[in-house]
Amino acid sequence: GWNESTRKEGRVSCIHQLFEDQVLKTPDAIAVEFQQQRLSYRELNARANQLAHYLRKRGVAPDSRVGVYVHRSPEMMVALFAIMKAGGAYVPIDPMYPRERLDFMLQDAGVAVLVTQEKLLEGLSSQEAQIVCIDRDWTEIAQESPETPAVEVTPANLSYVIFTSGSSGRPKGVQLEHRNVVNFINSVQRLFALNEKDIFLGVASMSFDASVLDFYLPLSVGARLVMVDVETTRDGYALADTMAQSGVTAMHATPSTWRSLIDAGWKGGPALKLLSGGEALPWDLALRLLPCCSALWNLYGPTETAVYSVVHKVKNSDSATLVGRPVDNTQIYILDSRQEPAPIGIKGEIYIAGAGVARGYLNRPELTSEKFIPNPFNALPEARMYRTGDLGRYLADGVIECFGRADDQIKLRGFRIELGEIEAVLKQHPSVRHAVVDVRSSSSGDRRLVAYLVMEGDKRPDLSAVRGFLKTKLPDYMVPSAFMFLESIPVSPSGKLNRRALPDMDEAQAELPSGPAEPLTPVQQGIATIFSEVLEVRQVGLHDNFFELGGHSLLATRVISRLRDRFQIEMTPRVLFEAPTVEELAARTSDVIVQSTSPDEIETMLRELAELEEQ
Ligand code: AMP
Repeated sequence: GWNESTRKEGRVSCIHQLFEDQVLKTPDAIAVEFQQQRLSYRELNARANQLAHYLRKRGVAPDSRVGVYVHRSPEMMVALFAIMKAGGAYVPIDPMYPRERLDFMLQDAGVAVLVTQEKLLEGLSSQEAQIVCIDRDWTEIAQESPETPAVEVTPANLSYVIFTSGSSGRPKGVQLEHRNVVNFINSVQRLFALNEKDIFLGVASMSFDASVLDFYLPLSVGARLVMVDVETTRDGYALADTMAQSGVTAMHATPSTWRSLIDAGWKGGPALKLLSGGEALPWDLALRLLPCCSALWNLYGPTETAVYSVVHKVKNSDSATLVGRPVDNTQIYILDSRQEPAPIGIKGEIYIAGAGVARGYLNRPELTSEKFIPNPFNALPEARMYRTGDLGRYLADGVIECFGRADDQIKLRGFRIELGEIEAVLKQHPSVRHAVVDVRSSSSGDRRLVAYLVMEGDKRPDLSAVRGFLKTKLPDYMVPSAFMFLESIPVSPSGKLNRRALPDMDEAQAELPSGPAEPLTPVQQGIATIFSEVLEVRQVGLHDNFFELGGHSLLATRVISRLRDRFQIEMTPRVLFEAPTVEELAARTSDVIVQSTSPDEIETMLRELAELEEQ
């Protein structure tokens, strides 16, 4: 009964057709707002149509895969809609990715056309794909018709291929069809009751499927999509400002982003709708968010079943975080190790079936048949279900509770990471014999990646060389922040890796490459102290880099708020990205202090600080 979620739509459409239907209803409403730029529904549609015609002439047809390597901007939305209107499936590639990863994705996806921007061209290796520069080539693209192209694309065609971390050492592309996504959009439209009055803020990068909700949900109901640059997404203060300035009424983000907003003193508003998803929503955070909004939703699901499959409206009376019930046309099975239903209240693995189940992994037939398996609970022979690797249970009323993973996949600040992928890359380093990567919590609960390495011979390698090697192959969020060298990897009596016997993070941090140079000035000393408190590392030197010591955007917000308190200055976390070492940040801080303070005040402040440090 709990899986009776069948709901028929009048017309099964494609993602871009949901948008086109809306263009007819509200052509002059603002569709996208980004900084000073605004595009109406009519303008966005016309531009996407022009680019779609242009792409058709370059061979894009149903199911062909087209790379999108574009900074977050209204042009990005033009590109995404254009690719789908031309019948193709988009393959998003984040401009922050290292070149090697980018090349792998383009090649693995067999991308024949790549839509990009002129300023990003230098980040590309020589390409077999035809390059379309959405800015440089626009005069030519604008010659095309602004009318919708006639294309034989059906809901069973591919809409996008999103890459996600792969335990074998390479990311894997998940292939989603239009019908998977449209089913999701249609069901949550009704649940969240968004409409043309809403102003929606989404912060996800297009290379994660959370962005699918951000882009297509508001634009299928006539709402306004507010986009922000990547720096703003990492800065709780700036996000809070944007929300106030743009009059945001609904927002979708990961719990990590909600935490950074709360840390920045954000109070929300009585009419706000908050959608939280992508990782577990801690109950303490849920309790802090509930007074900031009119409704808080917890959304659960993997990329493989179209964004989210289970949703829950959080209530004070829940007393723990629940993930809820399936969206329309979706069935959830909680199964034991023999793949039989676990009793109500008993933990099992979560399997997802129904309209959201993706076509499978691109070029990975074995992995596809391992994870997308026949559905024994459905009489249709072609019915499949996806094995999530998540543990959960049914409560007595049919609401689902999720308990995390049964394997080595983790979520770190919303990023999905297979620890095995980082280990496989580490093992490619010529001096590394064994590598194990684990996620460890500091005493304040901040979670970080720690790499445990056994090296070839006795040589202790240069840590920054190992880090540099990883950075050429992995996105920043997958590069461990602490490294530890071991004689051997601890194993259990049966010869399996014994994770529990790996040293904890405190010991691993003893290995940090803290320079011997002592901070000199009181401001430098003050900053080093803030770094060491926030990062929970013992010793911080003048040339130590906040991010290499384990810092990340959420902790950056904390550093800035302590800097504000300590020196009574106004700064944003952006500064820390530009000046990440103690020395650089001290120079920037001193500049701000000098600009905003009288010489007498500076002197008193520095004297007090010096006394404080002495104590
Ligand atoms: P992704 O494919 O990046 O969306 O990651 C999917 C995985 O993130 C799921 O299999 C879960 O392990 C985790 N996840 C996503 N949303 C939630 C949630 N609301 N609560 C708990 N875990 C979640």
